[in-house]
Amino acid sequence: MSNPIRVRFAPSPTGPLHIGGVRTALFNYLFAKKNGGTFYLRIEDTDQTRFVPGAEQYIMEALEWLGIAPDETIGKNEKFGPYRQSERKELYKQYADQLINSGWAYYAFDTPEALDAHRKEHEEKGKTFIYNHHNREKLDTSLVISAEETAKRIANGEHYVIRFKTPVDEILHLKDMIRGIVKFESNLLDDKVLFKSDGMPTYHLANIVDDHLMQTTHVIRGEEWLPSMPLHVLLYHAFGWAAPDFAHLPLILKPVGNGKLSKRDGDKLGFPVFPLEWKTEEGISSGYRENGFFPEAVVNFLALLGWNDGTEQELFSLEELVEKFDLNRVHKAGAKFDPEKNKWFNHQYLIKQNDADLAKDFAPILAEKGFTPSLELTTKIVSLIKERANFVTEFWELSDFFFVAPTVYDEKAKKNWKEETPALMQELISVLEEITDFTSVNIETIVKDWLTKNEIGMGKVMQPFRLSLVGALKGPHLFDIVEIIGKQETISRIQKAIETI
Ligand code: GLU
Repeated sequence: MSNPIRVRFAPSPTGPLHIGGVRTALFNYLFAKKNGGTFYLRIEDTDQTRFVPGAEQYIMEALEWLGIAPDETIGKNEKFGPYRQSERKELYKQYADQLINSGWAYYAFDTPEALDAHRKEHEEKGKTFIYNHHNREKLDTSLVISAEETAKRIANGEHYVIRFKTPVDEILHLKDMIRGIVKFESNLLDDKVLFKSDGMPTYHLANIVDDHLMQTTHVIRGEEWLPSMPLHVLLYHAFGWAAPDFAHLPLILKPVGNGKLSKRDGDKLGFPVFPLEWKTEEGISSGYRENGFFPEAVVNFLALLGWNDGTEQELFSLEELVEKFDLNRVHKAGAKFDPEKNKWFNHQYLIKQNDADLAKDFAPILAEKGFTPSLELTTKIVSLIKERANFVTEFWELSDFFFVAPTVYDEKAKKNWKEETPALMQELISVLEEITDFTSVNIETIVKDWLTKNEIGMGKVMQPFRLSLVGALKGPHLFDIVEIIGKQETISRIQKAIETI
């Protein structure tokens, strides 16, 4: 039997989780669940210069909110812990040493100043400086000095790094589950730094060591890591370990024009690209949660960024996604991010919600406006307006006339207020006054009977009637509004319209 599937999401805590990162987490989650495997979260915080306080907490909270929390992570089923790389620091040195001893790595003593000088010199000749097989024997490395000399320099506390000794003249044909075979030339790779004299591994070493020790079977990550695949596969080879399978997910592209969706696009174009709000001294980046998105809607639209099930179906619950997800159906081409479509998804989830639940979400907004209607009434209002809303936050705008009489009337709609209108409205008041069973259907029947009997055109009464109650020609079924606001309020609003318009 093959190994049980284990996949990971391995973000660096350098800020809030961008929507691309969330999509990576989601695809890992779906793949794990689909295959009865484990999804774990590892925090890759070896680069202390880029560490941002609060980011780790943010990542965990975001995954919880979306309903895709990991099976194992810091503080949860720590089977292969610690899950924070800074706490695994002691572990990496022996692996770097192992590569030195087997000849797969070497010490490099070049100072940052010396490297800068090399770079400048190359630039002046119109070339790019790459630290690799071309020049590694001309640079300040353990490849050209004796073992004793190397040991002495290290013992003296000299600054050093350990670099990977990339093999020469190899053509690598590597398999990516999404792209098929991808070809790389080893001669074009640079000898990446694996370990630094401050005792910290770099991303590449820590990532491979941990993926191995944590028994990762599949590495599913963003396309930006594709160029690192040859180094990673070579590292597995150098250690004598079996490499996991790799899948590099397509880029998420800007809604308009070309290029990758960036962290800054959201605030620039006015839509969230983060799951949760993120506050810093420089300002606030808005989040899906705070903008009234349902987590199910966010999961649904993210799942379709680069994947589909081969049919026209667009709405998928998380359970359905788990059932249908297939890495073979993830495409290579970048996926365009469409904020309008995201709102459509939210709308679909909103109309599916229970009216009473939505009413509970709406209640605090109403309370802020000074209204505390019964849950029953709020539920009724919600049922009338939700078809027109993408978000609960839009409910007030769609329903304010249930609570407050209009003070201004839409200018364009006022054109429907003709010379004969005040008299007709006066007659309408008399009709309404006579009604005892003041419910929507009954009121509608009586008003329409009156119109038919007196041969009055519908539009002549209905539009001014709506204008009087709502202040514009919008809103749900007119007689539902009439029932909810009640007889007295309806009549008083008509009277006020007669006086003002
Ligand atoms: N720490 C890397 C990141 O920030 C992980 C990349 C990978 O999944 O290998 O995305």
